[in-house]
Amino acid sequence: MTLILTIDQEASIRQHATRDYPGECCGALIGETIGAGSYVRLAVPLSNRHEDGPDRRFRIADADLLQVEKIARRGRLNIVGFYHSHPDVPAVPSNYDREHAWEDYSYLIVETANGEPVSFRSWKLDLDAGRFNEENVQVSQCILEKSAEAQVQKLGF
Ligand SMILES: [Zn+2]
Repeated sequence: MTLILTIDQEASIRQHATRDYPGECCGALIGETIGAGSYVRLAVPLSNRHEDGPDRRFRIADADLLQVEKIARRGRLNIVGFYHSHPDVPAVPSNYDREHAWEDYSYLIVETANGEPVSFRSWKLDLDAGRFNEENVQVSQCILEKSAEAQVQKLGF
C-alpha cells in the first residue's frame, strides 16, 4: 500500500509537528482508497487529549473522531489514517501505538528532532501477526486533489 499526500498536506503536518514540539501532535487523514493507494484529501489537525499530557503519547477524543467522520461522510470520503509525531524518537510505532491501533488505517509518524521534522514513515497494522508493516509514502502535487480538498474544507473545517 502507498499513502499519497500532496505537498501542502505534508507541509501542514510538518508545521503541526513543529508547533507542538516537544509534545506529540496528532491528526486524522481523510481521503479515499483507490487500488493500492490511499489518497489523502484532507489532513485534519486534532488536539492531543492524552490524560497524561501530550508529551509521550497521543489520544484522539471520541468527540473529535466523530466530527472528523462526519466531515469525511459529507465529502463522500473516509478516514484513511491518522498521523502523529515522535519528538526525538524514530518514526517507528511504539508498543502503545500498536496496542491502540486499528487495522486498515494508515499510521503516519513524523519524527521531530529538536522540533524539526526529519522523517515521515507510514505503517499499517497486521492484526493477525500483531505487528506493523511499513508502507510507502508518496508526496505529489495534483490539481484534482487540491479542488477536492477545497470542497471538503467548505463543508466544515
Ligand atoms: Zn507513536
